[in-house]
Amino acid sequence: MSYAIITGGSRGIGEAMVKKLAEMGYDVVANYRSDSSKELTENLLAQIKDEYGVDGLAVQADVSKYEDCEKLVVAAVEKFGEKIDVLVNNAGITNNCPFCDLPQEKYMAVLETNLISAFHMCHFVVPYMVKAGGGCVVSTSSIGGLMGVANQADYCASKSGLIGMTRALAMEFGKQNIRFNCICPGMIWTDMLRGVNQDEVQALAQSIPQGKIGDVEDIAGALEFLVKNQYMTGQYVSPNGGIYMP
Ligand code: NAP
Repeated sequence: MSYAIITGGSRGIGEAMVKKLAEMGYDVVANYRSDSSKELTENLLAQIKDEYGVDGLAVQADVSKYEDCEKLVVAAVEKFGEKIDVLVNNAGITNNCPFCDLPQEKYMAVLETNLISAFHMCHFVVPYMVKAGGGCVVSTSSIGGLMGVANQADYCASKSGLIGMTRALAMEFGKQNIRFNCICPGMIWTDMLRGVNQDEVQALAQSIPQGKIGDVEDIAGALEFLVKNQYMTGQYVSPNGGIYMP
């Protein structure tokens, strides 16, 4: 049986990705951070066991911290073994704050949660993939990693950084059969979007060529494509309704 580790697997895009991985037949290690998400994550894993017959493990860890990432990977390896087939770096937060008002600890939290966490997770997981002879890493970046967004310097920097890390690791580990790719979602209905000014959200939504905000399933579909397509590495796919066209 193959298995996947996903950070930020309790809600929103991560929840849809957990379901997609289960549908694809993977056992799933789903990470979350908040106490309030424990039950949510455990219920999600019970649901995928019922629906798809796959096994799950919920692990509370703050992936912005190196030692918590180590704890997460150790728990995964203890439960499912050293052959880690898929890693999804999905945990993320945003501030959406004018740059001059942004406190240092808040921009550090975004950089550490969105970008440094992926370094930590790859640092622990990639050696297992090398040993196993291959693997697949997908990181949830954002259109914010491809274009500038006012009040999001920290978020955009973290998401561009994920693309840079992905390309460099794809170069380094290509011959070891480890693929690294990113998903760059546009605006997707989750708590993250519900948590920001709704007038701004609606104004931005007007400028989407498809005229609508995306669903979490659109992003889970991109994950399935990147996991399955063996000739994709060092790339990003961007389900975004046309709001960003390279
Ligand atoms: P969400 O609904 O707010 O969910 C965020 C997830 O990340 C939760 O599972 C949360 O865990 C987890 N998380 C946050 N900080 C963490 C930490 N330090 N350690 C471990 N887990 C942590 O957000 P979402 O919209 O699904 O976002 C998922 C990813 O997609 C993020 O990387 C985000 O930047 C990216 N994205 C979202 C959009 C969008 O429009 N929604 C667009 C582009 C990219 P808890 O439940 O425990 O808090």
